[in-house]
Amino acid sequence: MIVIKSSHEHQLMQRAGRIVATVLCELESAIRPGVTTKELDELAETTIYKLNAIPAFKGYGGFPASICASVNEEVVHGIPSQRVLQEGDIISIDVGAFYEGYCGDAARTFPVGEISPTALELLQVTKEALYQGIAMAKATCRLSDIGHAIQTHVEANGLAVVRQYVGHGIGRKMHEEPQVPNFGLPGRGPRLKAGMALAIEPMVNAGQFPVKVLSDNWTVVTQDGSLSAHFEDTVFITEDGNEVLTAQEEL
Ligand code: MG
Repeated sequence: MIVIKSSHEHQLMQRAGRIVATVLCELESAIRPGVTTKELDELAETTIYKLNAIPAFKGYGGFPASICASVNEEVVHGIPSQRVLQEGDIISIDVGAFYEGYCGDAARTFPVGEISPTALELLQVTKEALYQGIAMAKATCRLSDIGHAIQTHVEANGLAVVRQYVGHGIGRKMHEEPQVPNFGLPGRGPRLKAGMALAIEPMVNAGQFPVKVLSDNWTVVTQDGSLSAHFEDTVFITEDGNEVLTAQEEL
């Protein structure tokens, strides 16, 4: 069942989303060559608590940190560590926070210093694909229209969309129904309605789409070692469109 949120719940989700966006802004300004992913995790956690929220990832399924930090060929679920970021790396950071019982969830892939034109294009296309998907998250569409729009944009640019991991409904729980794939045929699945909230999150590989999990049982990497990017926003469907609750631009 897809939960329809009340206007009060909508307001709480707006707060949760703004908190996540604020954390991403803080992280963005801290990312540079020489910083460790653990330092970024500590900054995120401190900021989340300062904003009267609770990290959503810490302890989730045993995950040990407040952010996922996935570098280069790492797709998602990277564990923050003493790894030092290098000039030319790309880092995908995923942040989730609960505010008064409601969750916001978002991810961005950031450049570390100067990055290659190929990496830059990967980031740009993945971000555009997220926005193509968000444009379909409206009450006149069906669920699969989102993934279809994402896949179409990614493949038109010669890149590959990850199949094994998908977006999700979000609200009182971080992961609610429905699953939101980033691929597929249009016009399938439930009709979208005002009051639904979705975390839309394309993961895009510069090489082929298959991924695998490392022996730490968390870190997902591309099977072919190619670079991967991840952009995610929490989106609330309204009567006349949608609101991107985790948009950094709205701060
Ligand atoms: Mg998510």
